[in-house]
Amino acid sequence: MALYVQKFGGTSVGSPERIRAVAEKVKGFRDRGHQVVVVVSAMSGETNRLTDMAESLNASPDPREMDMLLSTGEQVTISLLAMALQELGVPATSHTGAQVGIHTDNAYTRARIQRIETDDLRADLEAGKVVVVAGFQGIDEEGNITTLGRGGSDTTGVALAASLGADECQIYTDVDGVYTTDPRVCSKASRLKSITVEEMLELASLGSKVLQIRAVEFAGKYNVPLRVLSSFEDGPGTLIVAESEKDEDSMEEPLISGIAFNKNEAKLTLLNTPDIPGVASRILGPIAAANIEVDMIVQNVAPAGDYTDFTFTVAKSDYRATKKLIEETILPDLGGGELRGDDNIVKVSLVGVGMRSHAGVASKMFRVLAEENVNIRMVSTSEIKISVVIDEKHMELAVKALHKAFGLDQADIEED
Ligand code: ADP
Ligand code: ASP
Ligand code: MG
Repeated sequence: MALYVQKFGGTSVGSPERIRAVAEKVKGFRDRGHQVVVVVSAMSGETNRLTDMAESLNASPDPREMDMLLSTGEQVTISLLAMALQELGVPATSHTGAQVGIHTDNAYTRARIQRIETDDLRADLEAGKVVVVAGFQGIDEEGNITTLGRGGSDTTGVALAASLGADECQIYTDVDGVYTTDPRVCSKASRLKSITVEEMLELASLGSKVLQIRAVEFAGKYNVPLRVLSSFEDGPGTLIVAESEKDEDSMEEPLISGIAFNKNEAKLTLLNTPDIPGVASRILGPIAAANIEVDMIVQNVAPAGDYTDFTFTVAKSDYRATKKLIEETILPDLGGGELRGDDNIVKVSLVGVGMRSHAGVASKMFRVLAEENVNIRMVSTSEIKISVVIDEKHMELAVKALHKAFGLDQADIEED
């Protein structure tokens, strides 16, 4: 007998029919003698619908009220799933995050889980019940409802699996595993049998929304066996593994495991800023103070030694506020310079632990993009990834060309 935590995403619980199908899947596991904790998301589109409604009433809604609102989406699906299970003769109880005791910090809309109470859950499991838990939500120390950021039900699933010592956390979604890139953008993408925690962390942080990054962090930190699979069809899915557990005798380690892209960033360039010590901090200091996160940063070498250009990216949602801050505070403080902004960009990234032992990935990437006439605006690298910023209109072309050039197209990969 095993204990599984099974998380079902929005599409998987998108209608009463889908909820019934989830109930049947869960029943199947229970009939085979396993204990099951189910975590569900809101029905697909619901979190967006609630967000739009809030923004139609208030341009910048109070984060506490936002979390109060968004947490309702998951409350609908837990109760409906418990009813569907009961209808199939499976004893089941639903719990909100607060009822379980999923304690978080008080950072509304992006709270972090600090501690989970498991006594009640264990008692329900021991009593033979399926436990259905609302994903994406918790409570802070004062009892306020918090949410964990978009995609946060993945994190609820993995955190529960860690707290309960589950045998596996299964993330059921609308694709049958983690692919070499988003299969909706590149039809030749192929499913990976396994991927290392480190690579999955990079892919998630660089824009692949198949798993929320915090979920992968939890899995790595607490050694939770984590699998991504389809809620629509049976199959082995993709296992997220520690690097040491990678199948030694599988084919030679590919150089690149996956390609991620992120359209949610915008680029800002300050032209002709003085090239003297302290300027970077005078630019980024006020931005950090305004709680705006900066991602890539590039400072040009000043040709004449007096002036330089400084470019960085922020989330698209912070673009307008950052522009305003630069125009009204930073440029006057620097005593000059000119601002250029662009929010029609995409960051495309190659990820693979194989990069550590191979040179030439960057030059090959640049050559492939040059052959497609794609201009590279910014570059950043780390041990296992290379990212470039290009114009958004070239995204699909670039992803497909890189996917092919690095041998990831379906026909080029061994079948399992
Ligand atoms: P859920 O609602 O089940 O949480 P999400 O929409 O959050 O599902 O995540 C699944 C989606 O992630 C897929 O439909 C796919 O378009 C996208 N995706 C992005 N990158 C990848 C990838 N490398 N492998 C698989 N899916 C990916
Ligand atoms: N419903 C939330 C969202 O759409 C959480 C989740 O689905 O994981 O982001
Ligand atoms: Mg998701």
